[in-house]
Amino acid sequence: MTGLMTAPVNLLDFDPAQLVAYCDSLGEKPFRAKQLQRWIHQFGASQFDQMTDLAKSLREKLATRAVVVAPSVISDHTSTDGTRKWLLDVGQGNAVETVFIPEENRGTLCISTQAGCAVNCRFCSTGKQGFSRNLTVAEIIGQLWMAEFELRRTKGIEPGPKGERQITNVVMMGMGEPLLNFEPTVTALKMMLDDNAYGLSRRRVTLSTSGVVPMIDRLAQECPVALAVSLHASNDALRDDLVPLNRKHPLRALMAACVRYLDYAPRDFVTFEYCMLDGVNDTDEHARELVALVQHGGPGGMAVPCKFNLIPFNPFPESGLLRSKNPRIKAFSQILFDAGIVTTVRKTRGDDIDAACGQLAGEVQDRTNVQERMQKMAGYKKKFGDDFGRIVEIST
Ligand code: SF4
Repeated sequence: MTGLMTAPVNLLDFDPAQLVAYCDSLGEKPFRAKQLQRWIHQFGASQFDQMTDLAKSLREKLATRAVVVAPSVISDHTSTDGTRKWLLDVGQGNAVETVFIPEENRGTLCISTQAGCAVNCRFCSTGKQGFSRNLTVAEIIGQLWMAEFELRRTKGIEPGPKGERQITNVVMMGMGEPLLNFEPTVTALKMMLDDNAYGLSRRRVTLSTSGVVPMIDRLAQECPVALAVSLHASNDALRDDLVPLNRKHPLRALMAACVRYLDYAPRDFVTFEYCMLDGVNDTDEHARELVALVQHGGPGGMAVPCKFNLIPFNPFPESGLLRSKNPRIKAFSQILFDAGIVTTVRKTRGDDIDAACGQLAGEVQDRTNVQERMQKMAGYKKKFGDDFGRIVEIST
């Protein structure tokens, strides 16, 4: 005994290589790290005495110096459409949100990477809160860990590789700009992809960025998952206003970074997200400008292979912005479609629990007052009409 008390390490903070190094520091062989990793990430175990194939001496060692702890759940709500949203406590008055979106053949988890966000996009309620801090690896991967095993518990599905996986896709699209919290995000991504953890293919993990150009290049080198870019504008003047980061990394540089990324990406296109804002970025002219941008805006006038995802804006009063009308969205998407660009219109999900896009953690300050939030939602509906937060799916 040295007499020094050290804080226990949280094993959710480690990627596979770091777990091997940690086991080595305890005098354990690398295969122990794999066993440990499977217990944690495939069986959802957090107690070492559950890990029955580990030597008793190792379990005892771990119990005195390590923990497996994800952020604790403040609230847990399921929408009428099955969307489930957790509000998670990340300490010091900060909370983040994780949203599960079930669909017919897949289950997608939308993960947050920062408490708040410094980018401050004009149409985003997260951005309006300002930036609190970066999440740790344990807080990022802990969202997947908590959600996967909580969903299984709810449905009575056994943990472990034999039980039906609930989360088949992950999108890093919740609160925060993931590339401004680069190292922890990449460490968490590596764990998502690892066969002894979640074993997700790189095609099923999407990172969404507002366009941090140098970090897109780093991601290509370190962990190239599918890439989505929050574009939202067809020219620099408009994008400077909507996504302030554009002033630092303008469209030309962003398009070039997308083209470079595709040499490493698991898919042969980038997904451009485009939030449809009434009278701001949704005219035919904007659509034609976008076509020109992606068909000739790459290096040397080359095309940027891409797909568009049009997102009907979820209005929140402080934004001063409104959602484009459905016929406008349809006309806009038709122009992209006619130019040969695959275009989808995102269906708004989970609107009755504030889980729709752009609403994430809009209520963090008021995080326990669910009733009040529901009332607020009813108020919005009164003000903006019954279809507030809803969109009828439009096929192109
Ligand atoms: S849209 Fe994304 S990058 Fe922009 S403020 Fe919101 S969370 Fe941040």
